Amino acid sequence: MEFIPLSVPILNGNELKYVNEAVSAGWVSTGGAFVPRLEKEFADYAGVTDAAAVQSGTAALHLAMIECGVGAGDIVIAPTLTFVAAVNPIKYVGAEPVFMDCDDSLCIDPDKLECYLIEKCEERDGLLYDIALGKPIKAIVVVHIFGNMADMERIMELSECYCIPVIEDATEAVGTFYNYGRFNGCMAGTIGDYGAYSFNGNKIITTGGGGMFVARDAMRVQHAKHLATQAKSDELYYEHDEIGFNYRMTNVQAAIGVAQLEQLEKFISTKQENYFLYKKLGVELLPFDERVRPNYWFYSHMTTERDKLMGHLNECNIQTRPVWKLIHTLPMYKDCFVYMIDKAYRYYDNIVNIPCSSNLSDEDVKRISELIKNNGS
Ligand SMILES: *Cc1c(COP(=O)(O)O)cnc(C)c1O
Repeated sequence: MEFIPLSVPILNGNELKYVNEAVSAGWVSTGGAFVPRLEKEFADYAGVTDAAAVQSGTAALHLAMIECGVGAGDIVIAPTLTFVAAVNPIKYVGAEPVFMDCDDSLCIDPDKLECYLIEKCEERDGLLYDIALGKPIKAIVVVHIFGNMADMERIMELSECYCIPVIEDATEAVGTFYNYGRFNGCMAGTIGDYGAYSFNGNKIITTGGGGMFVARDAMRVQHAKHLATQAKSDELYYEHDEIGFNYRMTNVQAAIGVAQLEQLEKFISTKQENYFLYKKLGVELLPFDERVRPNYWFYSHMTTERDKLMGHLNECNIQTRPVWKLIHTLPMYKDCFVYMIDKAYRYYDNIVNIPCSSNLSDEDVKRISELIKNNGS
């Protein structure tokens, strides 16, 4: 039987044409027209004034930590059910995570977040301190898991009430937006103070590797571009006014990105159709928030026989994946503070992500659905 991968990039739009243009023009590194073009087109799509194209989603998150002013001795609230790259940047800047549970959206639970802020924290000189740890909370990292949207209405209320900035990890949620309520029309990543997107190979659009940084304050985007180019303040004389990074996206990556962005809405429609086809064929999938137009990036099937199902599908040449090992159980984070983690364990034990590439055919979906339903029996 033919192999069906979990999630692969589809590159049959203008990718090759634009890469050819970049290479023919000799602009393969961080200079060249495609980088600003991708930034402009992405910003227009996301409804923001400016965006900074960088090497990865992880780089965008690192820059967000810095722009947010998080540093040594600070605390950042983060979910435990997420990819590790959402949390590592907290450590890059010398801060400590405090781990939160998820709710049924798989994203950070706003009720528990609120309880933590009320029960475990107190205000001191304009900052909110974790009483036990004696350190100030400088940011909340919100991850929009699998293309769903975290409850940003509640989270932004808390952020405003306690004056804690929000960093949105929208790496999996390019194209997800609210179609209801206070943030009607707002894209994931543009609601909080900072937003990070990823164009890694398995994400809904790709540049091979790459990412995008956005911020509510456009000056922060300008500054992030500066930091991403080694903080060079004078081109000719190599003057640098800060410690910067080599985080800028290259023109070849951006050329692929411009072509991918042209196809994003088409990819979302296909993923949406396949999501509903799986459900119609009797495969139970976790829902996306009804107040949201999700990008349908990953489909989550819940089963009490996770490993059996993954083994069965693997034997039938179908690639699947469990959800990430909870971050607070990884060796480098096992001593960090955790607040009432409960639901995340169940989702970790029971989720299987099933194939969701945007070129999945109806026949593929039918074959996978049959195999899931009989699970080897
Ligand atoms: C993919 C991903 C990242 C990191 O993006 P890269 O571009 O691979 O660095 C961060 N957080 C989450 C939740 C992701 O899924």
